[in-house]
Amino acid sequence: MSTGTVLLTGGDVRTGRRALPGGWVLLRGGQVLALGAGEPPAATAASAAEVVDARGRLVVPGFVDLHCHGGGGAEFGGTGAGAVAAARTAAALHRAHGTTTLVASLVSRPVDELAQTLAALEDLVADGVLAGVHLEGPWLSPHHRGAHDAALLREPEPADVDRLLRTGLVRAVTLAPELPGGLAAVERVAGHGAVAAVGHTGADEAVARAAVDAGARLATHLFNAMPPVHHRDPGPVLALLEDERVAVELIADGVHLHPLTVAHAARSAGPGRTALVTDAMAAAGAPDGTYRLGGLETVVEAGVARLAGGGAIAGSTLTLDRALRFAVTDAGVPLEDALAAVTSTPARLLGRADRGHLEVGATGGAVVLDARLRPVRVLA
Ligand SMILES: [Zn+2]
Repeated sequence: MSTGTVLLTGGDVRTGRRALPGGWVLLRGGQVLALGAGEPPAATAASAAEVVDARGRLVVPGFVDLHCHGGGGAEFGGTGAGAVAAARTAAALHRAHGTTTLVASLVSRPVDELAQTLAALEDLVADGVLAGVHLEGPWLSPHHRGAHDAALLREPEPADVDRLLRTGLVRAVTLAPELPGGLAAVERVAGHGAVAAVGHTGADEAVARAAVDAGARLATHLFNAMPPVHHRDPGPVLALLEDERVAVELIADGVHLHPLTVAHAARSAGPGRTALVTDAMAAAGAPDGTYRLGGLETVVEAGVARLAGGGAIAGSTLTLDRALRFAVTDAGVPLEDALAAVTSTPARLLGRADRGHLEVGATGGAVVLDARLRPVRVLA
């Protein structure tokens, strides 16, 4: 027996590059050691520490979430040991739902505090508990702030951008390119090797396009917190959706977007440019009640989070497995496309060739899904 190895047999294996019906995968930790169609070689079967019968199940790569603020009652943010404990709790909740590559999103906070949070999360990024950090703000439009604290929004100062990005922990930054210095900030973020994302923005079509020319490659929760499409004024939505250089985040929870909107955007962008995200806040995988989001109070009722006082939608209570089911079942997105949107496409955006697929060398583990796309086992 080879320590820690798990052999999945008989499953409908979708590696992200090919389908192996009735195939097998041998993993250690989250790493794919070998795989194939049909029965595994006898020596492989004999060497495995555990054999999992995956007949009647789908075997897919571990999910990748680009945009997530928390879960299991905990939110990403804060400082010191509290920030670490909260991040571990949130990561564990999402991992149990199939997300093995998780980017921790931080809502708008003072730059000094963001720097402290980054310092606190450094070890978790080094250990792979987190795949990095996404700064959602504070460089956002006050007119499209959603659940971000208006008092904390600011224009992007080059020194602030450099200070936070120089940590090497930031994988993505959402910003409003129409702010003074916004386009230069897009260039700076891209120059640091992070993904510049357009979001919480009032940009028109021309400014959104200029942001892409400056290096933006992602639309943060397309449609939400930006001007809607008008037939004579297509705005950022169509500028970003139509641009082959840009991937679009979609929050497929049935609250943020109508299923028809999910269907239309996913088909329009195609599987290579669609990333399902949770934008989950602390209440994901936790009961209804009152939660914090950044410094703001939110109330969660029937799984819908809003700012206290009946305000804006304040993140979701999604997990990525539920987003996958919603996309397939409610929005009618083809399964292969929906799987790409929770695996290979977000992995590509993160520059992680070892994630989002199940070929040899992959390190993001596997998720075993039942016929209704519910995770029955997460191997990572
Ligand atoms: Zn947002």
